[in-house]
Amino acid sequence: MSRKKLMAANWKMFKTPDQAREFFRDFLPLVAGHDRDEIAVCPPFVCLPAAVEAAKGSNVAIGGQDMFWEQEGAFTGEVSTGMLLAVGCTHVIIGHSERRQYFGESDDTVNLKLKAALAAGLTPIVCVGEVLEEREANLTEDVLRRQCLRAFHAISGKKATKLVVAYEPVWAIGTGKTATPQLASEAHALIRGEAAKAFGQELADKLRILYGGSVKPENAKALMAEEEIDGALVGGASLDPRSFAAIVKY
Ligand code: PEP
Repeated sequence: MSRKKLMAANWKMFKTPDQAREFFRDFLPLVAGHDRDEIAVCPPFVCLPAAVEAAKGSNVAIGGQDMFWEQEGAFTGEVSTGMLLAVGCTHVIIGHSERRQYFGESDDTVNLKLKAALAAGLTPIVCVGEVLEEREANLTEDVLRRQCLRAFHAISGKKATKLVVAYEPVWAIGTGKTATPQLASEAHALIRGEAAKAFGQELADKLRILYGGSVKPENAKALMAEEEIDGALVGGASLDPRSFAAIVKY
């Protein structure tokens, strides 16, 4: 089964709108005409209009880093799917480990967000992954099973066609440590198995599962060579246009 890879950038809390424009000025020529993979950049909310404008007409899609599941209301600080769509986003990251670690994101809120993102027609990138203590205690499989089971709860295969999952071992995020291609592959196969249980084998075969965790120009090729790895979610190395372009073109 061949799946078009998705190479996605997560800028986290970096860059102003001016810096976002500068990034695209340098990045777009480097990836012009690159259609082997899909490319998406997820900047902070305040940079979204600048990023959408800068990337207009290019092969780069823009996404949010989070969202809320209600459409509007007294939810200070939150952004809805309708708002993301209104500024031109097509993608949204859900359940990033930093949201889980610092902002109370749970498997249940991930599920609510995923349902809302799919209903809105956005492409959700749902992040799962174990922390170091869980890996050392041999709990990785249990954690990934639980995160998938709860994230996918009460969502039909028909509705989940745009779903993308990112396997991001938390111990590899921003640490310079990368999962070996084989270790990532094993986790991806397990996630695909959970997707098959939830949505059916056909959708699971088409599901793109990205790897995230210290992806760099130097290790991208080996990771992307794995049959089970359908792209990358890149944090730190996506902030520099040359480095992210090198990863995209691994
Ligand atoms: C991330 O933020 O999703 C990530 C994988 O970060 P980094 O590439 O910096 O490890």
